[in-house]
Amino acid sequence: MAKAEEATAQQLDIVDRRLLDLLQRDFPPTMRPFAAIGEKLGLPEEEVLARVRRLKGPEKGRLIRQISAIFDTSALGYKSTLVAMQVPPDDVDRVPTAINRHPGVSHNYQRDHTWNLWFTLAVPADEDLETTVGALVDEAGGYPYRLFPALRVFKIGMQLDMEGADTISPVDSTQGSRPTPAPSPNARDRAFVRELQEDIEIVSQPFAGVAQRLGVSQEEVVTWLQQAKAVGWLRRFAAILRQRQAGYVANGMVAWRVQEDSIERAATVATSLPQVSHCYQRLTYPDWPYNLFTMIHAKSKQNCQAVARKISRETGVSDYVILFSTKEYKKTRLKYFAPAQEVTTSRSQSLHTEAQRYMPGGVNSPVRAFRAVGGEPLFVARGEGAYIYDADGRGYIDYVLSWGSLILGHAHPQVVSALKDAAERGISYGAPTALETELAKRVVEAVPSIEMVRFVNSGTEATMSALRLARAYTGRSKIIKFEGCYHGHADLLLVRAGSGVTTFGLPDSAGVPEGVAQDTLIAPYNDLQAVDTLFSENRGEIAAVIVEPVAGNMGVIPPAPGFLEGLRDVTKAEGALLIFDEVITGFRAAYGGAQALYGVLPDLTCLGKVIGGGLPVGAYGGRREIMEMVAPLGPMYQAGTLSGNPLSMTAGIETLKVLAQPGTYQRLEEKSAHLADGLRAAAEATRTPVFQTRVGSMFCTFFTTERVVDHASAKRCDTSTYARFFRAMLENGIYLAPSQFEAGFLSLAHSDQDIERTIQAAEAALARLGR
Ligand code: PLP
Repeated sequence: MAKAEEATAQQLDIVDRRLLDLLQRDFPPTMRPFAAIGEKLGLPEEEVLARVRRLKGPEKGRLIRQISAIFDTSALGYKSTLVAMQVPPDDVDRVPTAINRHPGVSHNYQRDHTWNLWFTLAVPADEDLETTVGALVDEAGGYPYRLFPALRVFKIGMQLDMEGADTISPVDSTQGSRPTPAPSPNARDRAFVRELQEDIEIVSQPFAGVAQRLGVSQEEVVTWLQQAKAVGWLRRFAAILRQRQAGYVANGMVAWRVQEDSIERAATVATSLPQVSHCYQRLTYPDWPYNLFTMIHAKSKQNCQAVARKISRETGVSDYVILFSTKEYKKTRLKYFAPAQEVTTSRSQSLHTEAQRYMPGGVNSPVRAFRAVGGEPLFVARGEGAYIYDADGRGYIDYVLSWGSLILGHAHPQVVSALKDAAERGISYGAPTALETELAKRVVEAVPSIEMVRFVNSGTEATMSALRLARAYTGRSKIIKFEGCYHGHADLLLVRAGSGVTTFGLPDSAGVPEGVAQDTLIAPYNDLQAVDTLFSENRGEIAAVIVEPVAGNMGVIPPAPGFLEGLRDVTKAEGALLIFDEVITGFRAAYGGAQALYGVLPDLTCLGKVIGGGLPVGAYGGRREIMEMVAPLGPMYQAGTLSGNPLSMTAGIETLKVLAQPGTYQRLEEKSAHLADGLRAAAEATRTPVFQTRVGSMFCTFFTTERVVDHASAKRCDTSTYARFFRAMLENGIYLAPSQFEAGFLSLAHSDQDIERTIQAAEAALARLGR
């Protein structure tokens, strides 16, 4: 022990020692806690404050490291694990620096073993622990690592006995887990946690500053602390001492190999010893058979070894290893609910930087690059149910859902299992399969106007082919499309299109020849009068009107009453075809698509997204006599190497099977109404002007003071406020579409809690925007 440290411990008088014991045991959560402690010690408040100020400080020589609330990691919803790494000796000082950047790493020690680096990591409930560890280790050099999550907690926490000689008394030990799980903290609770985990000021009323920062009274802070204790979030409010300053310089992690049925008994023996601060049952591996971990603190290595021998004698467990810490790289308190920007997005960032070297903008579809909302795009590592997890392991409730494709949520087990089976039978044949007929049959049975269908590989192909077919069928060239509707990126359709094109404010794409664009006539959405005018100015020349029956590429804009009916009437009267682009709305607005919802039947329908269950797909279909124009039956040529491939067909079939079950759309409707109503209420509560729209499970929050009915009114939205809202939501683990002009989507996997959390996050985000 260094001389200075010894001196610190020796300078304590008996009052200091009693004070330290009280501070460690339970700091009274009252308005004037130091006065309350003074009463117990028979000292005036001023003297208590003076002593605490002397004992506590950031300097190494001070005994008290911090006085603050000590929260229960798992009760707050965090998942945690111990991780071991094998790092080559010449890299062992660099690796911990990289690991320690993560705010969830609280302890990191070098130990004398081949597994030489041991750190603890905790992440919030919506983050994926394994992905985070994988990413951290990768970034730190990719050395071998093992996760040792706790399977059972037998003892946690300790108190250094300052009055007695050489013992450490347990402060709180936990046998097994709590009988009732703690409720999840809401946004207000999280704010309290964020404040109260910080070191208090050593003043007469230490909660005054906390109360001021939270905008509440001191009484409310005190009451909150009591409630937090009652529900299990708060373990205690207390002082933490610097162990080394108190003379406890040896820290041995002892791992025991205990017979499964003797674990509890062994743990009882170990936890009864005051030198054992922590005791856990942890995961084992073939080359790591030790299942019980105890942390032993003592004033010397020899004392640690003696304690281990004592445990061994009393339990009869002789197979154990002691790993002494040889270097401390990090020892800190975990910061709960740290703002997300602190939870580094470094991996997404570096992946994006690398991606940009090889792909334009680093992406394969422009909106994904986040240009409309700023910041770095998330690089996604995996998806499950309503959640996606980024490369840094952070989880987000996903309202993009592969742009509406994943109506069942991510990695639906039925879809995944069918896909695995299908892949084993061969990935693609370029020859007919029964799967194509099965999906075709389901589509024909579901969608009222489709009698025959052709599968392609994307929505773009579907609309492009449907228009070629309409031209072939009518012998006419011109088409009408609506401003702000997006139908994929075929040349003839990239004319004042919506979606990414609106987002970037480009009315046209470069590279589209004028000759191609001039046959595309444009009308405002929901404007029948304009359509009539176009027909009268181009009599006998218009092959088709193509429309999104619910516009989903300039936000979500429902058709005005009578709009779709009017289009049906005028196209019929003029001998043109009506094409519904139901790439988004197909099997989403209703099982039979928007045409079933609104009762208007087009001549041709385009599908995509949902019917591929997340795999590449598109389809166009309609009346038999029109579809019989398609090769090989008729003269309209259209083909595809991978069209109708068995994997896309399988994912589509399984998705439709689930969707066809009774009550599915009712459930989706209820979830969606819950969300949209909640978002509207959040906007009202925060006096944020928004126009909230929804059709089935498609929704949009337009930041505007007016009704949004077409492209012009959509374009008047405040896109910079949307961008701030988007980023605030992202920080809170909610992934919305990265543009004001995209639809939000719900899936059957979104739970009521997910939706509630989203609404709460929205209210907090909107309140922040208003400030
Ligand atoms: N049609 C609509 C209505 C769409 O929303 C989209 C894409 O979002 C498409 C067509 C194009 O589909 P894909 O991106 O599969 O080519």
